[in-house]
Amino acid sequence: MKQSQLFTKTQKDAPKDEPSINAQLLIRAGYIDKLMAGVYTILPLGLRVMKKIENIIREEMNIIGGQEIFMPTLQPKENWMKTGRWKTMDDLYKVKDGSDREMALGPTHEEIVVPLAQKYINSYRDFPFYAYQFQNKFRMELRSKSGILRGREFIMKDLYSFHLTEEDLDAYYEKATKAYENIFHRTGIGEKTYRTFASGGSFSKYSHEYQAVTPAGEDLIHICNKCELAVNEEIKNETEVCPNCKGNDFRKEKAIEVGNIFKLNNKFTVPFGFKIKNERGEEREVLMGCYGIGLGRLMGTIVEIFHDEKGIIWPESVAPFKIHLISLGKNKEAEEIYNLLRKNNIEVLFDDREATAGQKFADADLLGIPYRAVVSEKSLQAGGVEIKKRNEKESEIIKIEKLVERLKKEV
Ligand code: ATP
Ligand code: MG
Repeated sequence: MKQSQLFTKTQKDAPKDEPSINAQLLIRAGYIDKLMAGVYTILPLGLRVMKKIENIIREEMNIIGGQEIFMPTLQPKENWMKTGRWKTMDDLYKVKDGSDREMALGPTHEEIVVPLAQKYINSYRDFPFYAYQFQNKFRMELRSKSGILRGREFIMKDLYSFHLTEEDLDAYYEKATKAYENIFHRTGIGEKTYRTFASGGSFSKYSHEYQAVTPAGEDLIHICNKCELAVNEEIKNETEVCPNCKGNDFRKEKAIEVGNIFKLNNKFTVPFGFKIKNERGEEREVLMGCYGIGLGRLMGTIVEIFHDEKGIIWPESVAPFKIHLISLGKNKEAEEIYNLLRKNNIEVLFDDREATAGQKFADADLLGIPYRAVVSEKSLQAGGVEIKKRNEKESEIIKIEKLVERLKKEV
């Protein structure tokens, strides 16, 4: 893509009412735009990042048997009355239409997915099964000071699993754990992300949160210095020693909950009367698990972890482009290199704008694309293109013919 064609522009300053680093950098670089507190537009560059994150998650969900669906945002009040959450869920957005019919804007989708599954599933032979979606959620968040980490409207991947036995739910829960580890490794935050024990509420012993350690975190986790097991602050109170190794030496870290997995058991199937006869004709309760990841929260977490004073430093797997090609002065070589890269399916943003070298370099650092390649009279005289990684200081000149080979090798 040519940068001169991009309708969004970089900005020197972030909005004054935006204290979080993720939103400041993403807004300044033109990845997102703020509409109001907790509500953002995803701009062309930002959507490229979101789609990469989405595809990584989709691949991992498909591997564990997930079937992708897309459920509505606008949801009937009756479903929410059935589970009692119309009254108990504080952050539920309620809307009314012209004929005074009340509806909910979905903050999560148990109330929709359970009756949906119930319509199609009438035999024990249909179990287990798993459905997931990428969908907008609405939540009346009180605090909306963390940029895209805490939106009032945000995109979530939510997977729901349905089982007839506890053993089957347990086994799938472990599979989902593996998928989640893969997702966080592949998006670059694996090293910083801990599968953390959290309280399971009233219907399960415990659940797990995936907590990414960073000073921007709103949560506090305790990590065992002996075995690295992590426990959320809230359940830490229940246990003095590490549940795994019985050690009692913990370190406290601030962390962001990037995802969580939860055994719902029969909590949502009971209100809808979703039961199934097993092979012996005995009626059995349907058990469920749910598994969430906020895509914006994950994107914002990546920015919180990977940035410096000049801008973002994207991990290659989620970067909007692989290489930022910068031409200094008009030269036909830059255009030729751009075409060459595109022919070789290398994702390239070409800064062909009429701007100063200083402006172009500053923008490249702000945008955070993994490689920067500068084509100038000076680089051409020295034999080619000056290439540098965003997270390294040293640059080197490489021959134009070697550029594609080099970029392909680095994957
Ligand atoms: P939190 O405690 O941070 O409010 P939660 O327990 O309400 O999170 P869940 O309902 O379990 O979160 O949602 C699943 C996932 O969706 C979370 O792990 C997080 O990644 C994401 N998420 C939740 N709320 C938001 C939000 N307001 N903005 C962006 N992502 C969110
Ligand atoms: Mg919440």
